[in-house]
Amino acid sequence: MTTGTAQQILRDTFGYASFRGAQQAIVEHVVAGGDALVLMPTGGGKSLCYQIPALMRKGVGIIVSPLIALMQDQVDALKQLGVSAAFLNSSLEAEEAREVSRQLMRCELKLLYVAPERLLTEGFLNLLERLNQDNNIALFAIDEAHCVSQWGHDFRPEYRGLTVLHERFPSVPRIALTATADAPTRSEVVERLSLEQAEQFVSSFDRPNIRYRVTLKDNARKQLQDFLETEHPDDAGIVYCLSRKKVEETAAWLKEQGWDALPYHAGLDAAVRSKNQKKFLREEGVIMVATVAFGMGIDKPNVRFVAHLDLPKSMEGYYQETGRAGRDGLPANAWMAYGLGDVVSMRQMLLSGDAPEERKRVELQKLDALLGFCESTACRHQTILRYFGEEHPGDCNECDNCLSPVDTWDATKAAQMALSCIYRTGQRFGVVHLIDVLLGKTTPKVEQFNHQQLSTFGIGKELAQQQWSSVYRQLVAAGFINVDIEGYGGLQLAEAARPVLRGEQEVWLRRDAEPAKRKSSMAER
Ligand code: ADP
Repeated sequence: MTTGTAQQILRDTFGYASFRGAQQAIVEHVVAGGDALVLMPTGGGKSLCYQIPALMRKGVGIIVSPLIALMQDQVDALKQLGVSAAFLNSSLEAEEAREVSRQLMRCELKLLYVAPERLLTEGFLNLLERLNQDNNIALFAIDEAHCVSQWGHDFRPEYRGLTVLHERFPSVPRIALTATADAPTRSEVVERLSLEQAEQFVSSFDRPNIRYRVTLKDNARKQLQDFLETEHPDDAGIVYCLSRKKVEETAAWLKEQGWDALPYHAGLDAAVRSKNQKKFLREEGVIMVATVAFGMGIDKPNVRFVAHLDLPKSMEGYYQETGRAGRDGLPANAWMAYGLGDVVSMRQMLLSGDAPEERKRVELQKLDALLGFCESTACRHQTILRYFGEEHPGDCNECDNCLSPVDTWDATKAAQMALSCIYRTGQRFGVVHLIDVLLGKTTPKVEQFNHQQLSTFGIGKELAQQQWSSVYRQLVAAGFINVDIEGYGGLQLAEAARPVLRGEQEVWLRRDAEPAKRKSSMAER
């Protein structure tokens, strides 16, 4: 067993000179037997917060983790440091698992990683009770504690059963850790895990070394290619896409262009996934094209960029996914291309699933918060932190909005035209047709529906096609317009559109850069 002060263990066992942020306070609190809820961003150093107390207290630290694929890596790393560690999950053969249990009962382990479903078996709980009779459980660490929240993107029903730890082992300290910090998730974690008495350690969620940028999609592949060529020709990074199909197509396309790109999604064979993940972790300069199935717990410090070709589902998702960049503290880019099509398909996806209504409502609100972020003209760091209930001191001077402040314009009249065109055409057409009507184009569809007769036909010639598309995108994002998801994605007026149509409310929108200008400004860099 390792002995010594926290500081000595940090230095001698882990090889670090000093604690970071709240680590020391957390370690001391848990060593003294207190329960803790630790909210720390990805890369903040959560592992030491339970590893060091486990080494300092009598007995074994039991770590509950949903990340079966990563337990092996964590245990290997600990063994390298000379810490006796093991894991128990479904990847072990029966005999291997029995051997781990024997080591556990012989008190030979200081850290044991367990999958929640394994921990909750009566057989395992009985072993723990026997250990606990001699105070041989140092602590319980509940990693990725947000998995207990059903509103989060990583809900694991088994996490609900973890209250048993408190009920059956009231004297063993528990430390719950997560990088998901929004207030509703936090209170749900406290409630579901009976952590009312736990001290909360909330770190700043700011990731000052990440430069956020949201660009408007016009030719996403070309934009991605430009971004990679100008800023990350040799770097490791992650490209997130919404669907498995798009992951595969994008990875194949990047490969054709000569990039070292690999696909990752839950539909791939387990062996392929594991091979691709290993390559990404071990080799330099690999680009992983992935769905959100990739990333939780990935500890690759030098991921230099995270690119989103599709919208994440929420601010939490965006923060988590972009947070995988720059864990080493060096500058990293979070780049996203986004357009009206994304808003429409994301809304369709959320609404068409068979989740209960209440859940859909919550998810739509979360999506709206993300859209608000995309369209925001304020400093990205400020907007993100405010979402997590934190204030960022001043502007970051590094994100897109700080570097090239967004111009806004009084779009009240344009919004009235755009909304009224939806109304006059019967609230069932998509944006392309609506713009044709506003611009007075006599297309076959316009003729088919006799829309050249409408009062809105041709009233919008002052703006170009691109500008109308920007107006519609922003009106959808701001909630003036709904997308009909039962039909074919036609646009409909939301309640919020009324005061605008009645002339009671002004609408200010961001002035998007012209696509041509955007391209040249990219090329210049
Ligand atoms: P998290 O679980 O919060 O994402 P980790 O525990 O994996 O973060 O730590 C992230 C990285 O920071 C790891 O490479 C870890 O070794 C390193 N680290 C953690 N604490 C310290 C420290 N006090 N000093 C130096 N490096 C640290």
